[in-house]
Amino acid sequence: TKREDVRNIAIIAHVDHGKTTLVDELLKQSGVFRENQAVEERVMDSNDIERERGITILSKNTAVYYKGTKINIIDTPGHADFGGEVERVLKMVNGVVLVVDAFEGAMPQTKFVLRKALELSLPVIVCINKIDRPEARPDEVIDEVLELFMDLDASDEQLDCPFVYASAKAGVAVLDLTDEERDMQPLFETILDYIPAPEGDPDADTQVLISTIDYNEYVGRIGIGKVDNGTIKVGMDAVVVNEHEPDRQEKVRISKLYEFDGLNKVDVKEASIGSIVAISGIADISIGDTICSPENPSAIPFQKISEPTIAMQFIVNDSPFAGLEGKYVTSRHLRDRLFRELNTDVSLRVEESESTDSFKVSGRGELHLSVLIENMRREGYEFAVSKAEVLYKQDENGKLLEPMEIAYIDVPDEFTGTVIEKLSQRKGELQNMGTSNGGYTRLEFLIPARGLIGYRGEFLTDTKGNGIMNTAFEGYAPYKGDIQYRKSGSLIAFETGESVTYGLFGAQERGILFIGPGEKVYSGMVIGQNAKTDDIEVNICKTKHLTNTRSSSADEALRLTPPKVLSLEEALDFIDTDELLEVTPKSLRIRKKILD
Ligand code: GDP
Repeated sequence: TKREDVRNIAIIAHVDHGKTTLVDELLKQSGVFRENQAVEERVMDSNDIERERGITILSKNTAVYYKGTKINIIDTPGHADFGGEVERVLKMVNGVVLVVDAFEGAMPQTKFVLRKALELSLPVIVCINKIDRPEARPDEVIDEVLELFMDLDASDEQLDCPFVYASAKAGVAVLDLTDEERDMQPLFETILDYIPAPEGDPDADTQVLISTIDYNEYVGRIGIGKVDNGTIKVGMDAVVVNEHEPDRQEKVRISKLYEFDGLNKVDVKEASIGSIVAISGIADISIGDTICSPENPSAIPFQKISEPTIAMQFIVNDSPFAGLEGKYVTSRHLRDRLFRELNTDVSLRVEESESTDSFKVSGRGELHLSVLIENMRREGYEFAVSKAEVLYKQDENGKLLEPMEIAYIDVPDEFTGTVIEKLSQRKGELQNMGTSNGGYTRLEFLIPARGLIGYRGEFLTDTKGNGIMNTAFEGYAPYKGDIQYRKSGSLIAFETGESVTYGLFGAQERGILFIGPGEKVYSGMVIGQNAKTDDIEVNICKTKHLTNTRSSSADEALRLTPPKVLSLEEALDFIDTDELLEVTPKSLRIRKKILD
């Protein structure tokens, strides 16, 4: 049976192409809002970080009504680093709206999500936005979009997609540029006509697959998903099962059920096939859970959430300078904030360590963790972090396994050589190389996750900020051997009477980690390095032992506290990284670590 009164769509857009304005306008013009009632809160407004990085991080839901049909609109994350989020979102919908700026054209950043949508056979409506711009070139942009579709192996049906021209800012959309502009109606109509209504069996046993998790201080975790079969009702008994956890058989009673309405969640008593619902009151609800009626619970297959592959220590700042830059500095603050993050981010792991001052935070990649770090710093948390390290595993025979990633890279043609060279050095294997398209070449690398550590910044420099990189976890594979970095790194060691601390940094890594006996971790920031003398300027933002070194050169620090020279074994005891350290009194080079 089809739910003709519902449409579920996802929006794909490059940052600034007008997604927020468009959704605002759909909201304003939909039945939810009475005439002249302003939409005060911007719907899908990206947070600062999303805007700066040009990617959407969290997916958000909105619902609008048009002619008695409810249109659920879901924002798509722009990056593959977030543990299958893209696929999860796209599995809730029956079609997508691709918003493209009529001047800028389709940007490579949207390719990853678009490719997924096309692979899942979803129909696409192309909305050429900002046609009011004087430089708008809608016809060329349409050609470019179609070329992109072909490049991404779109089917014939998908290539035959409708185009809607819009000026979200003016609140108008047209199907033909000569049409008279009035309102968004043509876009609404196209959504109703072209995007199929969701289907399912309303009389079957209930199945709701949870695809996203939201969190609210008052009600706790909220599971969001689509009703795939049957009906879910407040007061009904249900069983929660999960394809990847055969033992999960939790009996629950549905106490609170919501649907989306405009920008809000509203209470409903029941919901049927095709509805996107939010459910609170199940404390441990998680992504991938299926909520079933008790008769014969069966889990809906679901892409497993990617495992964390990278970890960092988040360390309390206990220097005399703590509190100068942030409001929240204590171990308690840090702990609460990190554990709170687990409520909504299922790809994240937080572990306490022996020291109450340090937490091991594992995530899907450097980008994933750096977004968390930046968010926390902006919220006023002051803390230090260690260098990222890869999470290794062992197979049954004790052989070392390491996480592998696929890196999808779009790079301006002139930088292709540099990127291939750099990634090859980092043990990347080029799997696919597309032909040049619009000045960009697509490269696909299979690469150890450790090879990507610290690479993103270098990549942006090497491509003058124009390269785009998405990564996706591929699986664990036998350790690929050593990475030989060309850049040199140094270890600096300070003896401070009661302990020795060591710091490791490379030319690219400004963060510095000090590890002392008893696994005590300190950290600082490399301010600069003198290329001629190799002197290092270090700003030590956390240590109990070193004072007066807020800004001292390594040379001076070394003079004051002569370093202890370590043997290789000793150094490795302290520093768990995949680079081998050759220690000399004054510096050391990063070399290979012999693992076999
Ligand atoms: P988002 O990042 O995709 O959500 O983009 P926004 O909706 O925030 O829009 C980015 C910028 O483009 C804002 O300054 C908007 O005012 C502007 N904008 C959005 N739609 C239009 C349009 O149809 N025409 C013009 N000229 N500007 C637009």
